[in-house]
Amino acid sequence: MPEHESPPPAIEVRGLSKKFGSVVALNAVSFAIRPGELFFLLGPSGCGKTTLLRVLAGLENPDQGEVCFDGRDVLEFPPHLRGAPMVFQNYALWPHMSVAENVGFGLVERGIAGEELRERVSEALVQVDLKGLEQRRPGELSGGQQQRVVLARALVLKPGIVLLDEPLSNLDAKLRVEMREEIERLHRTTDITFVYVTHDQTEALSLADRMVVMEGGEIRALGDPGFLYHNPPNHFTANFLGEANWVPVTVKSIGARRTELQTPFGLWQAAPSPGNEAPSMTVGDELVCLVRPENLVLALPGSTDGMNHLQAEVRSVRMNGSTVTADLVAGDIPLKAEMLSRRSPALTAGTTCTWGVRPEATILIP
Ligand code: ATP
Repeated sequence: MPEHESPPPAIEVRGLSKKFGSVVALNAVSFAIRPGELFFLLGPSGCGKTTLLRVLAGLENPDQGEVCFDGRDVLEFPPHLRGAPMVFQNYALWPHMSVAENVGFGLVERGIAGEELRERVSEALVQVDLKGLEQRRPGELSGGQQQRVVLARALVLKPGIVLLDEPLSNLDAKLRVEMREEIERLHRTTDITFVYVTHDQTEALSLADRMVVMEGGEIRALGDPGFLYHNPPNHFTANFLGEANWVPVTVKSIGARRTELQTPFGLWQAAPSPGNEAPSMTVGDELVCLVRPENLVLALPGSTDGMNHLQAEVRSVRMNGSTVTADLVAGDIPLKAEMLSRRSPALTAGTTCTWGVRPEATILIP
C-alpha cells in the first residue's frame, strides 16, 4: 500500500439487511470500524445488535449487503476462516475438559499440536491472567475466571477481530469492573479490533472508542461516546445515553453563532458546539431542546451570567454519594438537576430557585 493511503477499515458493512419472517432485524445498516478500535453496538433489547454481530461472525447470513474485513469480502467465508471469533455471554465451556484443553480446542481443530499448541495456550492464559490454572475444570473456576477462559479461547487463535456479545452480563458488580479493566487492557496492549455488543449505555460510554446506537434494526447515531452524549443527533439517542430534560421551544431568530428561542421560561439562546451544527430549521419552527441534568445549575436570582434561566420548584432531593439529584418542576415541566454533593447547597423540597443553563449546553434536537 502506498504510504499516503490509509489502511482499509478493519470491518466495513454496507447496506446490511436481515429479516426473520416479518421481523426486520437489520435494515440497510452501513458503517466502518477502524483497525484496533474498541467499537460498540449499543441499543435496547431487540434492536438487532446480536444479529449484526452474528452476521460479522458468519453465524447468520444477511438477506442483503456486504461485509468486508480489511477490504476483503468475507460473506462467503465460514466462521472459522474469518479470523473473528465470538465471545458469548454464556460461557459455553466444555465441562469435562481442563482449562488448557478448552483454550487449545480451536487450535487442535486447526491441526496444531505439540510444542506450538502448549506455547500458544500458555501465552493466551498469561494474556488473561490465568497462568497456573491450566489443569482446573471449568466447574472449579469462578464466573469471572470462566469468562476469561472464554476470552483466552478467542485470543489463542491470534485473531485480527474479536466479537464480544454482552461479555459482562453474567458477572456480579465487582467482577464486571475487573473484566471491564481486562478488556481495556487487552485493547491497549494488542492490535485487535474489538466489536462489543451491549444494551448497557454506561458500559459503552466508559469503554468505547466509538459506537453505533441502534433502534429497530437501524443505526440512529454513530460516533465518539462523549460527543454523542453531549450532542445526540435525535431524541432516541439522547434518552438512551442518559437522563434528559426536554424543553419545548419555538425558533425566534437564527444567527451565525446563536439561535434565539422562545421557551415557556422566556427567551433562551442556543450556541451549537464545534462539530455539531444546529439542525436545519427556519424561524417559527417548533423543536425541543435537551438539557442534561448536570448542565442545569443553581443561579443567583436576576444574575447576568450569560445563562438561560428558569424558575423551578424543588420536589425532592436524593443523595447518591458523590452526586446529589434534585427532582424539579417548572410550570408543568418536570426536570432533573445533578450536582456534586460536595458543592451542592442544602436544597429543601418546596423551595423555588433560579436555575441556569449555558447556551452551549442547550442542545436543539429536530
Ligand atoms: P437482545 O439484547 O435482547 O439480545 P438484540 O438487540 O441483540 O436483542 P436481536 O437478537 O438481534 O436483538 O434480534 C433482533 C430482532 O430479530 C428481534 O425482534 C428478535 O426477536 C428477532 N430475531 C432474532 N433472531 C431470530 C431468529 N433466529 N428467529 C426469529 N426472530 C429472530
